[in-house]
Amino acid sequence: MTAAGNSVIRQGDWTLSADVTGSPPILEAECTTCDDSSGAAEEAKQPEVWCLRHANQTGHTGFRMIITSFFRASMASVGSSETAARGRRRTAMPDA
Ligand SMILES: [Zn+2]
Repeated sequence: MTAAGNSVIRQGDWTLSADVTGSPPILEAECTTCDDSSGAAEEAKQPEVWCLRHANQTGHTGFRMIITSFFRASMASVGSSETAARGRRRTAMPDA
C-alpha cells in the first residue's frame, strides 16, 4: 500500500509507479567532447561540480546529464481495475 498516489501510467491490470523502495534516481554528467564522465551520484551537485572542474581542466564546455530513474510495475487492485483490465490482457484472474 505504498506509493499508491504515485501512479505514473496504467495499462490493463498493471500500474507503473516510481520505485521508492530502492535507489533514488541516479545522476551522471558526461562531457560531449571527450565522453569523460562524472560517475554516478544521487544528487545533482556532484556531477555539476565535476562539469565545472572538467571545463577548467580541459576547456570542454558541453555536457549532458543522464538521469536514471527506477519504476516498478505492479498489479492494480482487483476491485478498481476489473472493467478496465478486460479485453486487452488476459491474466489468470477468473471473473467469479
Ligand atoms: Zn571533456
